[in-house]
Amino acid sequence: MKSEQNPLRKIAILGSTGSIGKQAIDVICAHPKEFQIEVLTAQNNADLLIEQAILTKPNVVVIANEKLYDKVFSALDAYHIKVYSGEEAISQVVEMDTVDIILTALVGYAGLKPTLKAIEAGKSIALANKETLVVAGELVTERAYKKGVNIYPVDSEHSAIFQCLAGEFHNPIEKIILTASGGPFRGKNISELKNITKEQALKHPTWQMGGKITIDSASLMNKGLEVIEAKWLFNLNPSQIEVIVHPQSIIHSIVQFMDGSMKAQMGLPDMRLPIQYALSYPNRLKSDFPRFDFFNYPQLTFEQADLKTFKNLSLAYSAMEKGGNMPCILNAANEIAVEGFLNDKIGFLQMSDLINDCMQKVHFIVKPTYYDYVETDMETRRLAKEALKRF
Ligand code: MG
Repeated sequence: MKSEQNPLRKIAILGSTGSIGKQAIDVICAHPKEFQIEVLTAQNNADLLIEQAILTKPNVVVIANEKLYDKVFSALDAYHIKVYSGEEAISQVVEMDTVDIILTALVGYAGLKPTLKAIEAGKSIALANKETLVVAGELVTERAYKKGVNIYPVDSEHSAIFQCLAGEFHNPIEKIILTASGGPFRGKNISELKNITKEQALKHPTWQMGGKITIDSASLMNKGLEVIEAKWLFNLNPSQIEVIVHPQSIIHSIVQFMDGSMKAQMGLPDMRLPIQYALSYPNRLKSDFPRFDFFNYPQLTFEQADLKTFKNLSLAYSAMEKGGNMPCILNAANEIAVEGFLNDKIGFLQMSDLINDCMQKVHFIVKPTYYDYVETDMETRRLAKEALKRF
């Protein structure tokens, strides 16, 4: 299909100053005939938000931190860009009539509420915030189904699965295999991981990403969250989702169908590709991203994930199998654990202890409502912060 036959897609980026948000702006600016930015939102980075707004001329920007409103307003007033502030404003802009697609690139639990609002408003979702599906996958996918809203994955593994399923949506999946780079500590044993510093954990071998996800990748919690995300996105049973370590990050994930055939999606690790596909689906747009060269990678290798050393991945599997609000507990405890690790309050391995502790102690609910999730998140954070003091 020629691009001029497609109407311009108007996009709201929630979390435009983060790693995904910045790369999304690159993708959108490279395709002015296909995409237009309607809304940008940021938490605290007013300077970058102002710079992005002057470059992309959105209709509206939101700075969540209300103290920064005056600064953003005075910088953008002359450009006739509307400026709002506060958390509530983020949940309101997703309902704007002029927005077609919401790219949710917020970090953590904060993505849940605006994503639910966007679904209620019937907007397509390009989902970069995996925690939304981890916390409340059942609720989110049920509401999206009822509203006829599509959720397009931005996470590279899930985008890979989604790309492998193009033309196959009626064919049952036997299983999917999510690939993991293994992070910077692949092959290390428990005693070597005891005194890991945050500087070491923040150096990811293949992907350039934000701080929280980089720590999650080092601890394999990122893969655990992705397993849960995949369950909801592709409507799978836990036993249908496998993880394999593939250190080169070239094969982004694999689908195995009922006849035993496997399809994999591959390419250099570059988040701009899954971002672009989520925004342009079902079309593919021309890009100048660097191309894969077989001779730079004479070997692609695969290993079993080490669930004994990297306990977070097995905790995530148990949370998924248990269901209910358990993945919500896992996620909230992990957010506090990562924060604690980045602030030198706990060691690398203690993150798993903290999460496990919360999973034992927080009240379990089989079929949570939205308010149960809010309650569970608050309760888990309180308990995890309490527990942090004891380490
Ligand atoms: Mg991923």
